[in-house]
Amino acid sequence: MKNITFKLSAVGIVLFVILTSFLFQNKESNTNIEKHSFSLDNNIELRIDSLIETLTLEEKVGQTCQLTLDAILIKDDKGILLEPHQIDQQKLEEALLTYNVGSILNVSNHTFTLEKWREIITNIQNTANTSNHRIPIIYGIDAIHGATYIQNSTLFPQEIGLAATWDTVHARIMGEITAYETRASGVAWNFSPVLDLGRNPIWSRLFETLGEDVYLAKNMGNSIVKGYQGDGMIDKYHVAACLKHYVGYSAPLSGRDRTPALIPERTMEEYYLPPFKQAIDAGALTVMINSGEVNGIPGHANKYLLTDVLKDKWGFSGFTVSDWEDFINLHTIAQTDSTLKDAIATAINSGVDMSMVPNNPAYKNYCDLLVQLVNEGRVSQSRLDDAVRRILRVKHHLNLFENPISDFSLYSKFGSKEYATAAYNAASESVTLLKNSNDILPLSTQKSILLIGPTANSLNCLNGAWTHTWQGLDTSYNNNYPTIKDALENKFKKVSYFEGSKMIMKDGDELDVPSLDLKQAVKAVKSSDVAIICLGELPSTERPGDIFTLDLPKEQQLIVEELSKTGIPIVIVLVEGRPKIVREIEPLSDAIIQVYLPGDQGASAIVDVLCGDVNPSGKLPYTYPRYNGVIMHYDYKQSELLNANTWQNDFYNPQWDFGFGLSYTTFKYSNLTISKNKITSTDSLLVTVDVTNTGERQGKEVVQMYIRDHYASISPPLKKLKRFTKVKLKPLETQTIEFTINVDDLKFYGKENQWIAEDGEFTISINALSERFYLKN
Ligand code: BGC
Repeated sequence: MKNITFKLSAVGIVLFVILTSFLFQNKESNTNIEKHSFSLDNNIELRIDSLIETLTLEEKVGQTCQLTLDAILIKDDKGILLEPHQIDQQKLEEALLTYNVGSILNVSNHTFTLEKWREIITNIQNTANTSNHRIPIIYGIDAIHGATYIQNSTLFPQEIGLAATWDTVHARIMGEITAYETRASGVAWNFSPVLDLGRNPIWSRLFETLGEDVYLAKNMGNSIVKGYQGDGMIDKYHVAACLKHYVGYSAPLSGRDRTPALIPERTMEEYYLPPFKQAIDAGALTVMINSGEVNGIPGHANKYLLTDVLKDKWGFSGFTVSDWEDFINLHTIAQTDSTLKDAIATAINSGVDMSMVPNNPAYKNYCDLLVQLVNEGRVSQSRLDDAVRRILRVKHHLNLFENPISDFSLYSKFGSKEYATAAYNAASESVTLLKNSNDILPLSTQKSILLIGPTANSLNCLNGAWTHTWQGLDTSYNNNYPTIKDALENKFKKVSYFEGSKMIMKDGDELDVPSLDLKQAVKAVKSSDVAIICLGELPSTERPGDIFTLDLPKEQQLIVEELSKTGIPIVIVLVEGRPKIVREIEPLSDAIIQVYLPGDQGASAIVDVLCGDVNPSGKLPYTYPRYNGVIMHYDYKQSELLNANTWQNDFYNPQWDFGFGLSYTTFKYSNLTISKNKITSTDSLLVTVDVTNTGERQGKEVVQMYIRDHYASISPPLKKLKRFTKVKLKPLETQTIEFTINVDDLKFYGKENQWIAEDGEFTISINALSERFYLKN
């Protein structure tokens, strides 16, 4: 059975590739489109044409309108949602049948059972099916590290942890399983992946990104999209991806969410756009827009980025959706439009196709105003038709017209052991060993452990925000998986647990308070062999997640300081979605592991690393800063290096470098070779290197290849990641790794605002080995 499925899908892939390349050629011959995003199906296009012809203006406008689920739920007299949540049939019918609403999203601060979701989606689609044209609803959800709003679903590491695996297979599998479980509930659209680059660790959503590097984010992001959507037409086990937040959202100058970013064109081209471009080429069906502003232009008003680049230049034929209330925000927050009506015109005319309005009765106003705008000619009929066409196209590609409600009998793998194992594998490969003095790790399970710290006994801290609820703090929906404390107790002979300090949410900020039991812990040292100190942060995201400093709270640092005075060996476990400053406690510790936000399987993975059942292989997806005020990235330039204290070029001195991570074994790199010393713009260059496991344990190593451009008309970074691969090696085993590059890998965005490669010298480096070559165009 497996084989037949594989063959059928292989045939499907071939047909898909042929069809895509055919359409691509057609498109390219008459426009400037660089590549087609996903294959247009002639039959579908004809059906959409005839449907659009029959739609009234109001019906078209309704398709562009998205409501939050709350807007159609029963509320009490005070406007509070009744528990358990129930759809208010009258409100639903008003939205779908009177206002012709095309999309619904989310669930507020609840995680429903699979059955509840199925009941909700069935009701919504059945109601839509009684409308004039029986157009199905496209329901969207933030299933960002698993199907986060369905009880008992499979929860993976958040994206930052996934990136730390440096393994695109995990990204693809996370996508596949999340899609399957999301579709099992009847929802066909996932607001994921985040493709914003995580270059500012103070920003509250760094954990939702794939880290600081463009090449890593491009490749991991691409695999997540493939996992969500599958190859070719989307079947009943896949969902539409939504790339977000296009574009530049992650770079607010202040670090605070949704505050202004300044991004020069070159930086936009070289850093922020490529992960989106790659995912569009992979066929991503939808894109969510940046809620903030870049260079003074709000994301939702940026016609150049939305229409000229995304749709016209890249050939994106899916649809764009606004972020939360962002049409309204153009008027009230960005203040680029003096009325709501102007704001709606600006957003639609800039190229936003769907408005996440999303509240009731605001949506009615939105629909009325957009109808007026079209009647007044301020939004053209053709722009509206284009938006509607894109939305209908995605609904067709999801097969919602034929099957608005999934056949719920087909999802027996939901929440299965097999899926939990896949999430465990991703979590265990994300764990990054940052320090291991005297090989203190792994620990024998016979050791007696003193476990302490505010993240040691919290499943919520392992999962982070967007888990069961928006901020991820509610414990009532937690799945039955162990905390670090539970998992340690299961594995180790003796564990004494202390809190050390507490993290509480007070007035919207994390407040750390010392715990009285720290003194007891110090006393308990006598009967313990090693202290495992679990530090980190409370879950949070978006504006509630804004923080004032990257410093690890002093109450948490105190635990390390006090215990280190006793002389007990110290292992620190960092459960955090971003790098918090550990400069002062790092020397007091013997080992440190960074576990990011590893999800429900995180505790088992962490404990298996601690005891050596898993050999750690995660690598940092960001540069871990040493100081709060020095946020540098690994791809720094020469000008950033001069240190006025030493007058040496040694200013790049992070706590740990991007790509860093230790193992319980050792790897030796040798025989770096390149196939030529000179290449032209039509050549490719083969790079080979031998990697040997020189230790006594099997292990995985991430082989990273960087390139330096020596002298360029735009001052060059001193290195850029260009290739990576993860290999598994038995003790004493050697593998030869091959990478092929060509002139495209040497290009940068030149003075004339074009991608160019300049003649000259380049250095390839892998680990400590390097080779030089020349480009002669
Ligand atoms: C976030 C998006 C999310 C949307 C829907 C917004 O506030 O910025 O990332 O997809 O809400 O929940």
